Amino acid sequence: MADPSVRVTLIEKETSYISCPLSNEVLSGERDLASLTFNYRGLGKRGITVVRDEVVGIDPEKRVVKGKGKGGYPYDRLVISPGISFRWDAIRGMSEAATETIPHAWKAGPQTTLLQKQLKAMRNGGVCIIVAPPNPFRCPPGPYERAAQIALYLKHHKPKSKVLILDAKDAFSKQALFVEGWKRNYGDMIEWISAAAGGAVEAIDPKKRVLTGSVEEFKGDVVNLIPAQKAGALAEIAGLTDASGWCPVDQQTFESKLHKDIYVIGDAAIAGAMPKSGYAANTQAKVCAAAIVAALNGQPAPEPSYVNTCYSIIAPDYGISVAGVYQLKDGKIVDVPGAGGLSPANADARTRAIEVQFALGWFRNITADMFS
Ligand SMILES: Cc1cc2nc3c(=O)[nH]c(=O)nc-3n(C[C@H](O)[C@H](O)[C@H](O)COP(=O)(O)OP(=O)(O)OC[C@H]3O[C@@H](n4cnc5c(N)ncnc54)[C@H](O)[C@@H]3O)c2cc1C
Repeated sequence: MADPSVRVTLIEKETSYISCPLSNEVLSGERDLASLTFNYRGLGKRGITVVRDEVVGIDPEKRVVKGKGKGGYPYDRLVISPGISFRWDAIRGMSEAATETIPHAWKAGPQTTLLQKQLKAMRNGGVCIIVAPPNPFRCPPGPYERAAQIALYLKHHKPKSKVLILDAKDAFSKQALFVEGWKRNYGDMIEWISAAAGGAVEAIDPKKRVLTGSVEEFKGDVVNLIPAQKAGALAEIAGLTDASGWCPVDQQTFESKLHKDIYVIGDAAIAGAMPKSGYAANTQAKVCAAAIVAALNGQPAPEPSYVNTCYSIIAPDYGISVAGVYQLKDGKIVDVPGAGGLSPANADARTRAIEVQFALGWFRNITADMFS
């Protein structure tokens, strides 16, 4: 839209996109995956060439993207947004194969359905364990919203059951608001054990669903282990990651610090104070697009502004949020002091109910922005 002379091609390995935002609601039965599934036809209508292919390599010297299905795609500028991959070796006994019985459900799709099925099959009085990953990871409030959505299902169908969160951390996003919301909506059904209190999981026996913490063992009827994370595999294959496993970028343009004319956005990028969220990825895409258009026209990169809001739905009429506005300072993305912030503590029922409507409105807006 900023420069119609630029030809844009999207290479995507899947035929449709299943949104992780709102996918925790599938676990409570409040929605289905179909309501979170989008196709790429809208992009075609905007003049974007959409190619279905899996990218297996990038040649930064020749400026060619290598596809699995075709020879190659030449580019002047390349943007990649490959999402995350998992560090299977972070917990002894865990593996990709084990996700057939111990779902992560951290990429929405069949894994979400598997976790939902396991919850449905669980006995009343059972324990669902969520293993929350160490920082940094995709969607910092996600595991805690998930605990609430699972509790919503259990409250209606298996009220003697429990949700136990074993955490690799000692603090988490919107913590006080979550704890207040859990208590108000689900009493003592949700329990959180911090790393310091023995919640950091060191090993798992996937068959027995037994987890070894630093102090004691835990046995779950259902175990949702969300592994530690790093940038999506493509970033590693293309040599865009550093020792941290994530992609260092110029935070004004998102150009890789390791390869010229390749830009990395979304969860895979190291983006200063911004969390790894879909909204963050979307705003980064816009900053990056503006920088590319400027570069192609021989102009300096514009001064960027970035934004993020993460809503969490604790119950159908109980939402909370955290918002951030960011600026570039000394080459780093930092918070704009006094902008953004958290939902108020101890808010009235109307405020919490309105935040659910804001969450749903946000979802409609961002998906229309992306796919229509
Ligand atoms: C339970 C949950 C709830 C969440 N809720 C929210 C929320 O409320 N708000 C929010 O803002 N964020 C939320 N998030 C986070 C959000 O989903 C991610 O931050 C966002 O998806 C990141 O976008 P991305 O482009 O980096 O990666 P992705 O969304 O994973 O996109 C990567 C794309 O690249 C494609 N791809 C990867 N490798 C290749 C390849 N080699 N060749 C071709 N294509 C490839 C994939 O198929 C995929 O379509 C949530 C996440 C989870 C797990």
